Amino acid sequence: MSLSRTIDKAAAGDRLSVDEAIELYAQAPTHTLARLADAVRQRNHPERIVTYIIDRNVNYTNVCVARCNFCAFYRPVGSPEGYVLGFDELFRKIDETVAVGGVQLLLQGGHNPDLPLTWYEDLFRAIKERYPAFKLHALSPPEVIHLSRLSQQPVPVIIQRLIAAGLDSIPGGGAEILVDRVRRQLHCDGKATADEWLDVMRHAHRAGLRTTATMMYGTVETDEERLEHLLRLRALQDETGGFTAFITWSYQPEHTELAGREATGLDYLRTLAIARIVLDNFDNLQASWVTQGGKVGQLSLAYGANDMGSVMIEENVVRAAGASYCMDEAEIVRNIEDAGFIAKRRNMHYEILGDPVFRERDVPRMLELATAREDGDAHVPDELVNYPARSRSGKQLRVVPSPSRQH
Ligand code: SF4
Repeated sequence: MSLSRTIDKAAAGDRLSVDEAIELYAQAPTHTLARLADAVRQRNHPERIVTYIIDRNVNYTNVCVARCNFCAFYRPVGSPEGYVLGFDELFRKIDETVAVGGVQLLLQGGHNPDLPLTWYEDLFRAIKERYPAFKLHALSPPEVIHLSRLSQQPVPVIIQRLIAAGLDSIPGGGAEILVDRVRRQLHCDGKATADEWLDVMRHAHRAGLRTTATMMYGTVETDEERLEHLLRLRALQDETGGFTAFITWSYQPEHTELAGREATGLDYLRTLAIARIVLDNFDNLQASWVTQGGKVGQLSLAYGANDMGSVMIEENVVRAAGASYCMDEAEIVRNIEDAGFIAKRRNMHYEILGDPVFRERDVPRMLELATAREDGDAHVPDELVNYPARSRSGKQLRVVPSPSRQH
């Protein structure tokens, strides 16, 4: 098919085959991709509302046995820089989030062999007891698989137990590129193959949870593999309808074993636009301003995005790899309105919660990103003694008397 016929087909809103999508992605001028993607956004969101959520991105531990070569965040078991957040620290973070109008924790972390399933269940229950209306958007598919292996229980059982403890939805992290050739090169096929990642989402959707889907591009994949990733997500969405949104971001190479160069802003905008065109069964696409910066984030709204993602209160993962953009609610709203859209707060289900909080009441400005822990804070949470450790270093920490327990 000629490029112009493929463009016409996309403009008519017809579903693209893999070959057509590849042709469009590789050959269409950027302004054409933008026009096509913006037309899809307008069809799906004619009211010109751009949403965002006030939540907090918290990484409960950086200790991880997966050791993906693109990750600058993790620390190996026994590292003096490894941490696990205590329940009290997490409560404090929730208090700060609620103070700025936040409604949810996005809770993800490393695959720590010294945190059994009961630690997660107790944490979720404790949070729900103190903050009954607060939502837990927690544990990406590889973390669910890690818990399944650690506790030797099937994935559906893990999901049911987490739901019973208070899990509300699952974030789409850990997808990287859903092609096993790529995953092998990134050393992340061990944590989850493409099929395993999709299968966790299938089980989650069947259990009634909504989830997001992501794509991290710009490592070792080809353009065709990016498209294969999108088509696999589209197929699962056809099957379950459980994804609320899609988010794509570029690989951040600094301080990683894989190293390399970061994809350009133009690559980001073209990738976002083709995702909007191909993912015809996804309602919402988020702008990834955390990796691209506020200005490209704002431009995303002309390339298919209808959501600015989360007000960033805390960030640890992307920052470890060199990116640290910060926008509080006032700044996000300014970017949305200056682009000609109406800014509204939402929850994870994309239900509108209202106008910007800072226009309704005084909220503290957050002009700097918080971190999981202050530098040099190496304390070990007291409650960890209640949970059996698997690693030798974890076991040692559990037996040392409380006052001297230090990482
Ligand atoms: S990306 Fe996640 S699973 Fe991979 S090493 Fe980093 S923390 Fe571990």
